[in-house]
Amino acid sequence: MKKDIHPTLVTCTVTCACGNTFETKSEKDSMRIDICNECHPFFTGSERMVDTAGRIDKFKKRYNMG
Ligand SMILES: [Zn+2]
Repeated sequence: MKKDIHPTLVTCTVTCACGNTFETKSEKDSMRIDICNECHPFFTGSERMVDTAGRIDKFKKRYNMG
């Protein structure tokens, strides 16, 4: 039985649970994932969120709301 030991990479359409889709190279032509770079906090900028929280904190202190 002949077996192709070299996986053929094709353009794979990845569909995320958040609805985002993007293409990558894979052995499969489609894939479903739960988290992508659009919805994962690590990729969506936890730094930005921290920064925003910091600004809110400063805002509260500034106006004696915190
Ligand atoms: Zn996603």
